[in-house]
Amino acid sequence: MPKNVLVIVAHADDMEFMAGGAIARMAALGYHIREVIATNNERGTLEPDWSTQFTADARREEARAGARVLGVDPDIEFLGYEDGRLSETPLNELRERCMRAIRRHQPDVLFTWDPHAPYEEHQDHRAVAWAATEAATFSHFPLYHPEHRAEGLQPHYVGERYFFAKSPRDVNKVVDISGYIDRKVDALCAHVCQMEMTVMDLQVQLAASGLDVPLLRDAYPRDYRPLVEAQIRAWAAATGRQAGFAYAEEFRRVRFGGIERWAREAGGQLPDDL
Ligand SMILES: [Zn+2]
Repeated sequence: MPKNVLVIVAHADDMEFMAGGAIARMAALGYHIREVIATNNERGTLEPDWSTQFTADARREEARAGARVLGVDPDIEFLGYEDGRLSETPLNELRERCMRAIRRHQPDVLFTWDPHAPYEEHQDHRAVAWAATEAATFSHFPLYHPEHRAEGLQPHYVGERYFFAKSPRDVNKVVDISGYIDRKVDALCAHVCQMEMTVMDLQVQLAASGLDVPLLRDAYPRDYRPLVEAQIRAWAAATGRQAGFAYAEEFRRVRFGGIERWAREAGGQLPDDL
């Protein structure tokens, strides 16, 4: 049966980068997928003369384009927080925004950054990870933000959570994305501003290291696709190798609060989507 999926992230390209293949697979199953992006992404450009408003508008359009490629509902909910300063938002406020989104979209499955992953340097990722996770933990309790009822929102239990991380820990779900790697690359490449920044960032790292990678050294940031494609394919191939998949993404997945572990003792097992 088709499920409702909600993705809560900090930035326009987070979903595509971390879970684009799995999301495209779920879309192909007929699942309805909505995305919530917490920040305006207004620091995400190489153009020094762009205003924050112009950049935020451009990044919103790119987010919609990426969503369309993956089969995600392009009606993205933007929470409107300042890029790079999400951790300065009170956790209670951000958690309430996430809980409101959960109660509005009633997801069976939540994708978000893993609050327990190590080495996450981006303050926005850490902030949204905790807020979304805590929101999902308490969204079915009616006395958490009871004011939502007046807006017609009902308490809602989120049964399944897929956590992603740049340095994942406790991975227990490897998703075969071999049939969706092209779509993941296409969706990422819709994020023109971010991909240009990614190439520039890699070039800075390369130059500082004293090493030489001609493909990267000679790349022109506006011609980012070959580099992005090579990087994404290499990453997904390395992830898939142990599981026997050509390309894969990996997650720490928690289903029904870990009740599956109990049920397994009694011989029960949940069906798997992917
Ligand atoms: Zn991000």
